[in-house]
Amino acid sequence: MRRAMHDAEVGDDVFGEDPTVNALERRAAELVGKEAALFVPSGTMGNQIAVAAHTSPGQEVICEENSHIVLYEMGMLARFSGCLARSIPAADGRLDWQSIRPRVRRPSDHFRGTGLIALENTHNQAGGRVYSMAALTEIRSRSAESGIPVHMDGARVFHAAAALGVSVADIGATVDSLTFCLSKGLGAPVGSLLTGTREFIGEARLVRKALGGGMRQAGVLAAAGLVALEQSPVNIPAAHENARFLAEALAEVPGMAVVPGNVETNILFADISGTGHSNSGFTAALRASGVLVLALAPGRVRMVTHQDVDRAGCERAVRAIQDACSRAGRVN
Ligand SMILES: *Cc1c(COP(=O)(O)O)cnc(C)c1O
Repeated sequence: MRRAMHDAEVGDDVFGEDPTVNALERRAAELVGKEAALFVPSGTMGNQIAVAAHTSPGQEVICEENSHIVLYEMGMLARFSGCLARSIPAADGRLDWQSIRPRVRRPSDHFRGTGLIALENTHNQAGGRVYSMAALTEIRSRSAESGIPVHMDGARVFHAAAALGVSVADIGATVDSLTFCLSKGLGAPVGSLLTGTREFIGEARLVRKALGGGMRQAGVLAAAGLVALEQSPVNIPAAHENARFLAEALAEVPGMAVVPGNVETNILFADISGTGHSNSGFTAALRASGVLVLALAPGRVRMVTHQDVDRAGCERAVRAIQDACSRAGRVN
């Protein structure tokens, strides 16, 4: 990947003249089964460009209550697009048409109505949960009847596809636009892609420029993305097996509460409140053993497996957690 970045041919992408960015955008569009794609610095920018390009101010965006687009993007739905989040709680992060339908509002003399439905797949806060193809197909066909576009925050859509045994294009066919991250499980240093129709991506380019996301000689970054798309998807099933292995092993550790059956991809959450550790005590003890985990709420810790952690690494993580938990037991 570093070699490809070193060797990348570049040009000015604001003029559409960076051959490596153009190649990445063509490849991304092909993989998602869309007409066009746009290289953006981050998944957040990809999502927020999509919201701006699909909606107009005053409209409502239907999304899951704990989705990234509403919780972790600095309120940009409201700040940048002037939209309201109409968020729906779902314990597993997955909306279905039954939960969406009562929230759909057609414009009237009193409100602007629903401008967009945004789905997160896999769902980060719900622990990497995957939408079924049946649910996606129903949401798309019913929303199309109401003329409401569907955007997918597919930061980890390659993981969703691997879990279902379908192609990313199969999932892409169920939404109007889709963002995915090169910088998460695909292992590139920087960048995301927003995909959709040629017309939509034309509008998205203008929004990207407005946000300061025109990156000029971005081919050095795009070159890494091309390598990631070529080489990383094949490694995803092993990362999923490692996450299940971790979940099953950690479920046996006294004090750790893990539900292995909820682990569908490469993310798992553990409730550490029974270990005797505070969040910061737990994360610091593991960090000292070379294991990085993220505390996202009191007692709630996230672990993510990926292609740079093999089974032996996961076994080492289990031992580090066993040690940390038994030490906490002695202290308390
Ligand atoms: C990481 C992530 C994003 C985008 O994050 P950036 O850090 O802006 O690239 C979007 N959605 C989900 C679900 C994510 O996990």
